[in-house]
Amino acid sequence: MTSTVTIHPALDGGVKQGSAGFEGGTLVCACASRPVKVAIKGQIAHNHACGCTKCWKPEGAAFSIVAVAAHENVAVVENGDKLAVVDASALIQRHACKECGVHMYGPVERDHPFKGLDFIHPERFGESGWPEPGFAAFVSSIIEAGVDPAEMDGVRARLRELGLEPYDCLSPGLMDYIATWTARKSGVLKQ
Ligand SMILES: [Zn+2]
Ligand SMILES: [Zn+2]
Repeated sequence: MTSTVTIHPALDGGVKQGSAGFEGGTLVCACASRPVKVAIKGQIAHNHACGCTKCWKPEGAAFSIVAVAAHENVAVVENGDKLAVVDASALIQRHACKECGVHMYGPVERDHPFKGLDFIHPERFGESGWPEPGFAAFVSSIIEAGVDPAEMDGVRARLRELGLEPYDCLSPGLMDYIATWTARKSGVLKQ
């Protein structure tokens, strides 16, 4: 049940606990000169490891680390001219640095349960103490990025060992949240 797959450099050595008093900070891209800086005010939520093929991840990592912040708490503070939207047709409008490729923030503007939230990668915080990831999402999707399907038992075992329960969509809590929004919108759910 051992796996040679690298989950993520910030997680492979064990998941580092965040600090309860984390109050946001500044996300910095990977450029040595004129890095893009994005200020995040206040706490972030739903931090998790993600195996989808859309999230930015560092070289060699099978998973990203991704969380959300309220859109009004996200502000580009330096070198925003280097940002471009990766895929304008996607639900998440991922704004990436054109030079280093790091995704800096991704707002959801469409009518969707995640509207008003921006997806961010907490590992880019210059500050420590951001909340640790709580689960792993879209685990099966790493096969689409080239991981051998025969590795999957080992990957899931490793994620559990790290305390990151593996799910092939989002966590049950988030899936229920999305379904509740959809049921209210359609009128199936009256409250
Ligand atoms: Zn950059
Ligand atoms: Zn993802």
